[in-house]
Parts: sequence; structure tokens; C-alpha cells
Amino acid sequence: MITLALSKGRIFDETLPLLQAAGIEVLDDPEQTRKLILATNRPEVRVVLVRATDVPTYVQYGGADLGITGLDTLIEHGNEGLYQPLDLRIAQCRVSVAVREGYDYAAAVRQGARLRVATKYVTIARDFFAAKGVHVDLIKLYGSMELAPLTGLADAIVDLVSTGNTLKANHLVEVERIMDISARLVVNQAALKLKREPLRHIIDAFGRALETTA
Ligand code: AMP
Repeated sequence: MITLALSKGRIFDETLPLLQAAGIEVLDDPEQTRKLILATNRPEVRVVLVRATDVPTYVQYGGADLGITGLDTLIEHGNEGLYQPLDLRIAQCRVSVAVREGYDYAAAVRQGARLRVATKYVTIARDFFAAKGVHVDLIKLYGSMELAPLTGLADAIVDLVSTGNTLKANHLVEVERIMDISARLVVNQAALKLKREPLRHIIDAFGRALETTA
């Protein structure tokens, strides 16, 4: 049995064409079912639905043989036990620093002010500000980071930005782009040895599908 860990929503939807290229069709729609294990047209392949942030954990410990999740999640989790063969170029966005409209971020940085930064992405934020030599107090949040600068909880946030509409709707402005993000395929290293043939088939099919859309 080959188990693929996916999260519902954008990653699931954008993975379907890649699965199709590997001859795999998921038989249930995750938005219509409460099942967490979805069968496919191939009896030896199943999909498990997990939270995006849990995908690396499932793959690392062998709860899934392979999975798909954002580079942001992988950096925060660490790479241990994970083989990362492909950038799937789906679920593209960026990690950026944003502040309240009217907040002079450049001046605060120039003056060496100690910034309070709220984020879910503490590793990415810590490394970024350390490399810039900016002192920050990081405040870990689990959701709605946009609220932090509006309530005085933080001076800035580090968050995912796609169109920028969420920032705009909350009167926030993007002041620095930290890195580009896309979804990556990750594979359990032990599974890659024990189930080499079927996993290689899937990885190679994904790779070929990406070449044709490049
Ligand atoms: P946007 O308004 O298009 O800039 O989208 C920003 C919101 O969507 C933020 O709350 C992000 O956390 C979320 N978001 C954007 N792109 C992604 C992605 N690729 N994966 C997960 N969340 C995302």
C-alpha cells in the first residue's frame, strides 16, 4: 500500500492533475465526505487528509509514504527523515513582512528599534531578521496574524501573501518579501528504499507532468 498525505483545499485541488498524470484518480471529494482516508482507482494507493502542518510529521514517521505541503511548513518543521525530490510549483505565494498603514518600518529598522513581530513562521522570521541584524521579539500566533498590528499586539507580522487582498482589506502594507513559496513533494526515506518501484513511478510521473507545464 502507498499512502499519500494531502491537506484539503488548494493543495488537494492543485494535486489532482498531477495524480491524474500518474494514472491515479481519487474516488471521493474531500469537500463532500467526512472520510479521512480516501480510496483511489488504484487499490494499492490511498490518500490521507491531514492538516498542512501535519504533513511532514506523517511522512517523517511513516504514517504516510509521501506527502505534499508548502515550503513554509517544511522549513518550520525541519527536514529530518524527508526526501524532497520535487518543487511542484503549485500553491504559490510568498512570505512577507507587513505593517499597519502609516507605520514607518524603514525608520524603525534604521533606528535599530526592537521590533515586535507576530507570526506563525517563527523559524523563517528569526532567520530573516537575524541575517538583517534587526532585533525582534517574536510573538507566536496560530491564526489571523493580520489582527496583531491593528490591536497593538505587534509592530509587524510575517505571513503568507498571495494576491495581497487580505493585507489591503485590513489596512496593512507589505514592506519586505522574505521568500517565494510553493508546494513540495516529500517522501519518507525508508519507504523510498522499501517501496522503491511504486514510489519512483509516482515521482517520475509528477516530474514528467511538471516538465510539460514548464
Ligand atoms: P491573499 O489575500 O491572496 O494575499 O492571501 C493571503 C491569505 O491567504 C493569508 O491569510 C495566507 O495565510 C493565505 N494563503 C495565501 N496563499 C497561501 C498558500 N499558498 N498556502 C496557504 N495559505 C495561503
